Amino acid sequence: MPKLELLEKYAKLVVEVGANVQKDQVLVVSSSVETYELARLIVKAGYNAGARDVVLQWSDPYVERIAYDGKSIESLEYIPQWNIDQYKELKEQGACIVSITSPIPGLNKGVDPEKMQASGLAQMKAFSFVQDHMMGNHTQWTVIAAPNKVWAKQVFSELDEDVALEKLWDAILKASRVRETNDPIKEWQEHSKTLLTHNNILTDHQFDYLHFSNSLGTDLTVKLVENHIWAGGGTKSTTGIEFNPNIPTEENFTMPYKFGVNGKVVASLPLDYRGNLIEDFWLEFKDGKVVNYDAKKQLESLKSLLEVDEGSSYLGEVALISYDSPINNTGILFLNTLFDENASCHLALGRAYPRNVKGGDSMTLKELVNVGSNQSMVHSDFMFGSKDMQVIGTKKDGTKITIFKDGDYVI
Ligand code: ZN
Ligand code: ZN
Repeated sequence: MPKLELLEKYAKLVVEVGANVQKDQVLVVSSSVETYELARLIVKAGYNAGARDVVLQWSDPYVERIAYDGKSIESLEYIPQWNIDQYKELKEQGACIVSITSPIPGLNKGVDPEKMQASGLAQMKAFSFVQDHMMGNHTQWTVIAAPNKVWAKQVFSELDEDVALEKLWDAILKASRVRETNDPIKEWQEHSKTLLTHNNILTDHQFDYLHFSNSLGTDLTVKLVENHIWAGGGTKSTTGIEFNPNIPTEENFTMPYKFGVNGKVVASLPLDYRGNLIEDFWLEFKDGKVVNYDAKKQLESLKSLLEVDEGSSYLGEVALISYDSPINNTGILFLNTLFDENASCHLALGRAYPRNVKGGDSMTLKELVNVGSNQSMVHSDFMFGSKDMQVIGTKKDGTKITIFKDGDYVI
């Protein structure tokens, strides 16, 4: 474990910048028993920030695994009313939420897929009102991470478990801008301002298309939908409170026009798809669709991703991230989207976010399709940023503006 003061700094950052708990507000902390040390510190930071009550919701991924094996499908599908009522009450109280993610890779290997599907579906149905509440930003919520030994060992397979755990803690804290010598809250305020400034500048330009190129062989044109919005970083709840849905976050992202992507993109990091690492791959696009591709490793996985449905061979997101970011500077592949997608410029195959087009949140599916927003069951981010990435934006009138030079913003 890192030093106590460092963890306390992290907990304070999570509570004050992540969820931005208000005086007399109820705070819900959702944590695995694997991460109890951090959870306790977040509870304390919650009260220090003026929370009226902090409610801890423990989960144990190992017990969940045992239950998958021990329970029948009917039993897995049964969600007790008291469990639902608990969330209803917390919602009525206007509670804000901190979720600590700490994945245990491979834990559910061998579970009957039918059981997993049935349980997942029942949970989604029963708690969709919680999802809607959060995704609609009706309260403040934040997702952060804490390591566990299994995850750490997967990231640093050559190290002993304990050393690996130390190293993953170290990397997570660095990536979250928590260091012994700094004031993370102040640094996050500045960081949020930078993200917001870039969102505003990029949205104001309303580029017709972006051109990406680097020495890895990427030469790609991405047309953007009309009235697109660049998002990323802090946001405001419908109750008017600023918060950060993710710690860390480094991206400015928007919506590509489904049929307007042309050229070749070469990935700069492996893509983890369903537990398989697709390595050294490239994709070639024509009018939005992947028409040619190759990978040195896991070509079959790449193929199955592209063939999930019609939309999985089209793009749904384009994101700009400075090469010189704390996450990328750790030089680690975290095997967790919260970190890896924030390491470098990325694209996503599959579904687009409605919020990335003006009025998108209230559009019907048909309306979204009509503006050129891609639809798919998947949304799979892959990294293609590099130290020498160049990005040029071209406006409708033909004006060209350099956005990235040598992997960093120049606007
Ligand atoms: Zn993204
Ligand atoms: Zn994404």
